Amino acid sequence: MTRLAQTAGLNDIQREILSTVRDFVDKEIIPVATQLEHRDEYPTEIVEGLKELGLFGLMIPEEYGGLGESLLTYALCVEEIARGWMSVSGIINTHFIVAYMLKQHGTQEQKDTFLPRMALGEVRGAFSMSEPALGSDVSAISSKGVKEGDEYVLNGQKMWLTNGGTSTLVAVLCRSDEGHPEGTAPHKSMTTFLVEKEPGFGEVRPGLTIPGKIDKMGYKGVDTTELIMDDLRIPANRVLGGTTGRGFYQMMDGVEVGRVNVAARGCGVAQRAFELGVSYAQQRHTFGKPIAQHQAIQFKLAEMATKVEAAHAMMVNAARKKDSGERNDLEAGMAKYLASEYCKEVVEDAFRIHGGYGFSKEYEIERLYREAPMLLIGEGTAEIQKMIIGRRLLEEYRFQG
Ligand SMILES: Cc1cc2nc3c(=O)[nH]c(=O)nc-3n(C[C@H](O)[C@H](O)[C@H](O)COP(=O)(O)OP(=O)(O)OC[C@H]3O[C@@H](n4cnc5c(N)ncnc54)[C@H](O)[C@@H]3O)c2cc1C
Repeated sequence: MTRLAQTAGLNDIQREILSTVRDFVDKEIIPVATQLEHRDEYPTEIVEGLKELGLFGLMIPEEYGGLGESLLTYALCVEEIARGWMSVSGIINTHFIVAYMLKQHGTQEQKDTFLPRMALGEVRGAFSMSEPALGSDVSAISSKGVKEGDEYVLNGQKMWLTNGGTSTLVAVLCRSDEGHPEGTAPHKSMTTFLVEKEPGFGEVRPGLTIPGKIDKMGYKGVDTTELIMDDLRIPANRVLGGTTGRGFYQMMDGVEVGRVNVAARGCGVAQRAFELGVSYAQQRHTFGKPIAQHQAIQFKLAEMATKVEAAHAMMVNAARKKDSGERNDLEAGMAKYLASEYCKEVVEDAFRIHGGYGFSKEYEIERLYREAPMLLIGEGTAEIQKMIIGRRLLEEYRFQG
């Protein structure tokens, strides 16, 4: 099962990390994922295992106790984990985005305070842009932070907060008018606030309520919640980077690496769907032979494997571009778009190969079928990716006539 999705040019450390993660996924995640998912149960033991492997600190610099690995290593680990169960990759994804934002944009005091504990998985990160009335249109955010003395007072309602219940540090994007007079462009009047809280539901800090888990069609186990701020008081030193008005750029930077990560998830889920499809096709017989011997099914397998390869190559390219220090919004947008679309198609083909059994909850493909659509939406829908890709292409290929 190792012919597909190979990555050339990895060093010994990367290969060792990936082999350890794959082993963990095969032994500790795949055997229990479907049962836990059907019960919508948080995978506590798996999370403890990830902590022991050091995955919560994979990209956090060594000086803060992390492994200091590249985005590529991280994305390849995410691919392996999503192959086992996409929800588990969701548990580390928001943590990774917040750690990345702190590393890139935090003050020294913020880095010293949070990164060492984040590397151990003691502090767990979530990020919150979306509101009930908006997701794609981040510039329309209405949650507000108003300065009062040495504090900011936050009010507003947030939506779709992955790890909202289990996290203890939430990066919340709000509008903040202080220093940004009426009429300032929306993206220049936003601030990321670092909100510390207790894990759990209800009033987790004075002025901050996490109402409960949103009941979802898939992506179960991991908690997705609302977040309500009602005169929530935040010390001024919890403005990410120490300066207001930079929140939009900070979040977009975080989401850009998040997009590589969503692409990696698409690759992992598609790989698992291919594995399930190719295995079932050799066991199920119709008209006197295994269905894999019918050309129509072989063609499906060929298309699925080609998509797995193509998505993996684009995801690796996007991660390497970012690691090289170059802007990767075009590559990340393309990788996220292609990998999530291909993932949905590969999963659907594997489902079709399973015939009626694919509809039974006893078969793993049923879970994948409910999980794949989330990748079409999270970290920017296909339409938003195409807008980013289109704009960048017009910058690159400006008409010179
Ligand atoms: C399970 C789950 C977890 C999530 N986790 C998080 C999280 O941790 N943090 C967070 O902040 N958010 C999170 N989100 C929110 C997610 O980022 C948004 O759902 C997503 O960005 C889409 O926003 P929306 O749902 O408001 O759809 P809308 O923005 O209302 O879009 C609706 C439709 O219109 C299309 N559309 C919108 N604008 C345009 C346009 N200009 N041109 C063409 N088409 C357009 C969209 O592509 C989509 O098809 C999560 C969502 C889900 C489902």
